[in-house]
Amino acid sequence: MTNVTRLLRFRCTGCGNCCKDPLLPLTDADVKRISARTGDAPEEIVRWVDRRGIEMDDEPEGFVSLRQGKRVMVLRHGRRGCRYLGADDRCTIYTSRPLGCRIFPFDPTFGKDGKLRRLQLIQATDCKYELDGKNDVTEMRTLHNRYEVATESYQDKIADWNKAQAKRKRGGKSPETARRFLEFLGLG
Ligand code: SF4
Ligand code: SF4
Repeated sequence: MTNVTRLLRFRCTGCGNCCKDPLLPLTDADVKRISARTGDAPEEIVRWVDRRGIEMDDEPEGFVSLRQGKRVMVLRHGRRGCRYLGADDRCTIYTSRPLGCRIFPFDPTFGKDGKLRRLQLIQATDCKYELDGKNDVTEMRTLHNRYEVATESYQDKIADWNKAQAKRKRGGKSPETARRFLEFLGLG
């Protein structure tokens, strides 16, 4: 059995570990969707972490230049993990959850012809999965494409923002605040 065939049998057991431990980077579309669902202000949904708080050195395009330094926008955690994790270890915003939660823990690679070439699991937590399930490659590809489009769109906005902040710095001004960045994203 190939690794792809084996991992396509992945079944989430609902252990909840992926909602308790790893920090999840968000896009502006995620924040907008969660805010519309919950009524929570964007500032309540997000937290800003620096490179010591999240392993993203290989993804510099995810870092936003803010007054407090370069930061990544992640889903805010409470005492038990994600602030939207219920007491029963279930997601309280399931149909509005971030795309990063929906793709977890799959890390697929698709060829130009759309065929699944490689499949790995994201090793971000102690995922207590079983290999007796069934996953649909077409659904995986659709979700993966949605995730890529949303991520690229957000990263384009970060790039525009960071350029403007670099210009401010050259003019002797400090970068703007996280609140201003959220406003820039249309989330303020
Ligand atoms: S939004 Fe829901 S699925 Fe995502 S980490 Fe939080 S509780 Fe888990
Ligand atoms: S850590 Fe793995 S098994 Fe546990 S809830 Fe998340 S995806 Fe499911």
